[in-house]
Amino acid sequence: MKNALFGQTLVQLQELCLAESFPKFTAKQLCDWMYNKRVNDFDAMTNLSLKIRARLNEIATVGRQDPVDCQVSADGTKKYLFEVAGGGQNTNSQYVESVYIPDGDRATLCVSCQAGCKMGCRFCVTGQQGFHGSLTASEILNQIFSIPESSQLTNVVFMGMGEPLDNFDAICQTLETMTASWGLGWSPHRITVSTVGITPMLKRLIDETEVHVAVSLHNPFADERAAMMPMQKKYPIAEIVDLLKKYNWYGQRRISFEYTMFRGINDDLGHAAELVRLLRGLHCRVNLIRFHSSPDTPYRTSDERTMKTFEDYLNSHNIICTIRASRGEDIMAACGLLAGKTVK
Ligand code: SF4
Repeated sequence: MKNALFGQTLVQLQELCLAESFPKFTAKQLCDWMYNKRVNDFDAMTNLSLKIRARLNEIATVGRQDPVDCQVSADGTKKYLFEVAGGGQNTNSQYVESVYIPDGDRATLCVSCQAGCKMGCRFCVTGQQGFHGSLTASEILNQIFSIPESSQLTNVVFMGMGEPLDNFDAICQTLETMTASWGLGWSPHRITVSTVGITPMLKRLIDETEVHVAVSLHNPFADERAAMMPMQKKYPIAEIVDLLKKYNWYGQRRISFEYTMFRGINDDLGHAAELVRLLRGLHCRVNLIRFHSSPDTPYRTSDERTMKTFEDYLNSHNIICTIRASRGEDIMAACGLLAGKTVK
């Protein structure tokens, strides 16, 4: 199979150029054509010599792939379906989803980093599917470049299918290409990486990048959280919060916690009070999320009044808290509903 150059960093492309005895500046030219001019064909890269273009066609492809399907929600949210190889761990093609969310002058894309997920969160449709492979940096970046609205995007969140920190190298490579001057040149503060909290990798993400971080919290009580999220046993939320408290979150960089509200499970004031206790001393925000029931889980969403009471309690105890607007539920694009199913 030919090597896909799309998604490779400047250093990786320089290594290729060296191995092929191309001039060193060819790597920068390739970056400019792929990431700035968004060209998907070596023959259109007119400042490369005909000899170099011919050799590139022999050994590589650019490797961008259009989505294979798109569903549009009544609220304007769009869910794109991409075919991926599953990071080479699986011989069959896999499907992953990305969700485009326009909202006034913001346009956010929620991208996937794995086909399925190993984390097994009990309330999550993706988690119930099992794991089918990690995406390459090329496949992750492709979701951002290959939707028709790509050039309008203001924000990208890594909150789709899969656990980003379980695919750390590919995520870091993608972040590098998104933020480098030879790549997309985005500010890292337009990007949020969400995680259940794989502590050693979380530390590396904070130390090695400048992106915003979102931790899926969902329950402040260890035993209850473990019943919903098996990774709690390996990486307890108290240790994750202790790690986060070692960093300064008062600058431009943000730490937030995702808290999905489940009726009768995590939505009373006892949970709110424990959350306040857990997060005391950490400058952060909490996003309350309506749960979108699916037939595969026994969980149900909390009612509006309960959510508002919870929100008010946190805000009155100095934790910035908002109820997140729900988008794309009618096309199964909302949080926790991404399944990568073909829809035709
Ligand atoms: Fe994986 Fe996120 Fe679903 Fe948990 S919620 S199973 S980490 S995709």
